[in-house]
Amino acid sequence: MIYACEDCGFLFFRVNEARECPSCEKTNIRLANPEEIQRLQKLLEERDKALSKEE
Ligand SMILES: [Zn+2]
Repeated sequence: MIYACEDCGFLFFRVNEARECPSCEKTNIRLANPEEIQRLQKLLEERDKALSKEE
């Protein structure tokens, strides 16, 4: 599941239920909305592209 932090806006992925933000360690987190999920997936895709260029 993909979560968003209400405090710092950090997006992160957890297989199990998340309790706190890995960035700011606050517990003010919620499930990401579709727009945020899309944004995160795009970021991950671009990171993968950058990584494959280095090889
Ligand atoms: Zn946070």
